[in-house]
Amino acid sequence: MSQQYLFEILKKSKNSKARIGKIHTPHGIIETPTFMPVGTAGTVKSLTPEQIRSTQSQIILANTYHLSLRPGIDVIKKHNGLHSFMNWNHPILTDSGGYQVFSLAQNRKIDENGVTFQSHIDGSPRRFTPKSVIDLQCGFNSDIMMVLDICSPYNHPKKDTSKDLTITHKWAKEAVTYWKNKECSNWLFGIVQGGFFKDLRKESANTLTELDFPGYALGGLSVGEPIELCHEFIDYCAPLLPENKPKYVMGIGLPENLKWAIKCGVDMFDCVIPTRIARHGQFFLEDQRINIKRQEFINDLNPLDETCDCYSCKNYTRSYIRHLYVSKEILASTLLSIHNIHSLQKCVEKIKNEIINE
Ligand SMILES: [Zn+2]
Repeated sequence: MSQQYLFEILKKSKNSKARIGKIHTPHGIIETPTFMPVGTAGTVKSLTPEQIRSTQSQIILANTYHLSLRPGIDVIKKHNGLHSFMNWNHPILTDSGGYQVFSLAQNRKIDENGVTFQSHIDGSPRRFTPKSVIDLQCGFNSDIMMVLDICSPYNHPKKDTSKDLTITHKWAKEAVTYWKNKECSNWLFGIVQGGFFKDLRKESANTLTELDFPGYALGGLSVGEPIELCHEFIDYCAPLLPENKPKYVMGIGLPENLKWAIKCGVDMFDCVIPTRIARHGQFFLEDQRINIKRQEFINDLNPLDETCDCYSCKNYTRSYIRHLYVSKEILASTLLSIHNIHSLQKCVEKIKNEIINE
């Protein structure tokens, strides 16, 4: 495999499986572990790229399903890719769209070669195959692309989860073969599935490891299961993947989950939670979520978090941000999103520093 898919491990913790590393991508180096804010439709909601960078975010996630339906691949190709389309000249990871096909699309029909569905926007028929989602992501010029997979729901019977997994593995093989022939500089990550069955997860990790992806994700977690079960499966699955490749848990973003995953040896995470709760007036404070609407903040001249050095905390009071929120001013979402993403990055940085100082 080409040297260009370079992942360096700089230090391993003595107390856990945590590690500090660097992923080299066409749009720069990502220092890991790292949290990736979600910009589903080519925008991290309410933030400009400069504001996203101010939160110390290095890479953002965008979504193949959404972008391929709207504005469509041709518009993005006219901009020479997603980076210039959205004016973000740093690494981008794109989810394959597999998850949304199962959560959003109507009348989807899976066969062993791909999935046919109706757009949730206009009902038009669409088809995703393992190869077509790579073509789409290459058209976006995504730094890290994800394979098409089937995300089995929580409480899915084992027999059905196993069937999903067989198709996921077939697609993974087609995807990696297609990608290797392209010899492109975009990374491709395989996605471990298998629901909440350890034997299936192990089989999935082994199958994907044999396919020799440059990086791996754990999918199908944080899909409604109890948090203890999610943690148990991160703990079980992460060590099954090759030590020398980046490991990514999809869809987690609460401070306690990040801390847990990092200790299990996970390098990357993404979640809509910091920006979604911001739009509902909530901000992170010492691992808690506080609502800015509270009466007690009317005359509170303190920042959201006294220990935080984000743009919002350096420049605005709780009183002002509360005023914006109750007045339904859109700046409230921006300021709370900046703080929430920055808080998660700080949380990761604190763990990194603990490892460095061990
Ligand atoms: Zn802050």
